[in-house]
Amino acid sequence: SASADTGSDPAIKSRVKSSFSLFKRCMLLCRPEWHLLLMGLFALLLSVAVNLYVPLSVGILIDAKSESELGARAGILAIVLSVGAVCTAVRGFLFAYAGERTTAHVRSLLISSFLSKPVSYFDTHPNAGGLSSMVSVDTALLRAATSLHLPMAVRFAIQAVGGICILLYISWTLALVMSSVFPVLALAGIVYSMVVRKLSRSYQSSVASANFYAEESLSNVRFLKAFSLEKLAQDRCDVATGVSYLWGKKMAVAVGTFQGGAEWLSYMSIVLVFWYGAKLLRDGNLSVGDLTSFVLYAVLIAHALGALSHQAGDFMRNVGGAEDMMDIVLDSQTQNARQQDKEPRVRSAACDAEAGNFLLEGPSTTTTTAAARLSSPRSSTSEDRAAPQIEMLSVRFAYPSRPNVPVLQDVSLEIRKGEVVALVGASGGGKSTILHLLLRLYNPSSGCILLDGRNIATIEEKTIRSRIGIVSQDSTILSGTIADNIRCALSSSAASGQVEEAVVQAAKIAQLHDFVISLPDQYNTVVGPRGVQLSGGQKQRIAIARLILRNPDVILLDEATSSLDAEAEHAFQEAMSQVTKGRTVIMVAHRLSTVQMADRVIVLDKGMIAEEGTHDSLMQNAHGIYRNLVEKQTIRHTVRQLEP
Ligand code: ADP
Repeated sequence: SASADTGSDPAIKSRVKSSFSLFKRCMLLCRPEWHLLLMGLFALLLSVAVNLYVPLSVGILIDAKSESELGARAGILAIVLSVGAVCTAVRGFLFAYAGERTTAHVRSLLISSFLSKPVSYFDTHPNAGGLSSMVSVDTALLRAATSLHLPMAVRFAIQAVGGICILLYISWTLALVMSSVFPVLALAGIVYSMVVRKLSRSYQSSVASANFYAEESLSNVRFLKAFSLEKLAQDRCDVATGVSYLWGKKMAVAVGTFQGGAEWLSYMSIVLVFWYGAKLLRDGNLSVGDLTSFVLYAVLIAHALGALSHQAGDFMRNVGGAEDMMDIVLDSQTQNARQQDKEPRVRSAACDAEAGNFLLEGPSTTTTTAAARLSSPRSSTSEDRAAPQIEMLSVRFAYPSRPNVPVLQDVSLEIRKGEVVALVGASGGGKSTILHLLLRLYNPSSGCILLDGRNIATIEEKTIRSRIGIVSQDSTILSGTIADNIRCALSSSAASGQVEEAVVQAAKIAQLHDFVISLPDQYNTVVGPRGVQLSGGQKQRIAIARLILRNPDVILLDEATSSLDAEAEHAFQEAMSQVTKGRTVIMVAHRLSTVQMADRVIVLDKGMIAEEGTHDSLMQNAHGIYRNLVEKQTIRHTVRQLEP
């Protein structure tokens, strides 16, 4: 896995340093819960103090001179232990609570950083299943690391250090004998944490990839069954799971070796204490009570050291696994801050010259205006029609995922307000790419695009997308009801009554209303994720209803290449002709009937504008690309027209 290489830096020093920076990143994410963590730490210190007091007080108890002294000392011990238990409960609650809050917060940050990424990010990171496994698995790892392993590691570290201090106080020679194993243990711990962190990161990214194949298989189950590809899907999942299993196995070996080794070393320290303590007792330099305390402290310290190594190891393993996720969340926060300055600016003198100071019409976000504008589609005056609404100036473009393959080469065009333009051409010519650039899903590699004379690179994305609406080939349907799917076009918080009215009105214009009211639950019909319960034509008309509600000035239409049946196509054409009235329309057209609706046809060929004109004028060129497309039926006659 690519991310596995991240930990292979040869310099140990820099590894330790980056482990520290990993710890720091982890703390940064927990920072909002600092007050809970501080209280938890306080409870933890109290319970550690109780743990440390116990061996001492047992020694004192055993050395008691009288019956009453014994009773009093036992009573004190019971009270101290009860306080310790309460502190443990409070500490447990506070850390778990802080952990849950951090998880919820980090999950939300992670989703928001994914959603704020440019579309090009998802071209180069197509592993959506892996990304979603970050949201569930990696955040859970972080929660366990911060709410369980870290507090426990702190607890055992303090317990070990405190125990050694008490031993130093009682017998410094004994303390030194016991501590002789520590340097070895510390070194083993550092090596282990580096190894486990690297393994865990690889393991986690292989789990993400296994998740991706599982998710892909489950979301395409119809296709897989239709082509009897269950075995292929199963094999791909098994291969990916096999990789994560191998990493998991390596991690199991590392964990087992280290935990066993750490335990062995701590047992050795107990043996040393027994040996040296017994010697002191024989020489008469130690009471039985003192020896009991020694032994208890030795066990306590040995246990603390063993547990510390477990917890520290688990902490490193978890944060190592969540490292990619933490990088995304924290980097996107810093990037967001920088983004404003980095927005692509006007790129050429030509753009500067063309870009006037036209005032931008604000986004029409309220339902009232949307509904009002709806009922009276804008009538464009002749003056409006003359002004170029959209201009592309010497636009060149290559997708960031394939920077060496030019998709658009020096495309310049001008589209006036209210004009209907059809983009036609062979598949792969760059038609859809032009729509992507107009929506600013991507930025041109050079040249610029002007909307009402303003470079769209300087316009907020939200503003562009409220003014330019799209009906794309695959009309996306979200989980929820039909009404939800239309309503989501509105970003305003208008009164629900108005919204419902506008939704119905939009559905009527989109030729969807009759179908919806024929359903038992009407607008409240749940359509299932990805709209599996709807036909292609119905999905398209929901997309149109959405567009109507959005009420953009410019409409982009990416006509579906698959043909609808005659009736669905008629309904679609009807809906589109209602919506496009008086608006600027740019459509990627595959059907002759759609092309004939256009005022102007632009023929794209290999990323360049090859021909331009009306359908009739282009047809007159006997050797023209357009005429060839029509004759070869690349631009199809509609089903309806083929019928007698
Ligand atoms: P058309 O709409 O004319 O069929 P497109 O604009 O969809 O053509 O595609 C133009 C070229 O860009 C094609 O060669 C296609 O493979 C490539 N392309 C489209 N989308 C992407 C993408 N997200 N990443 C890389 N290349 C892409």
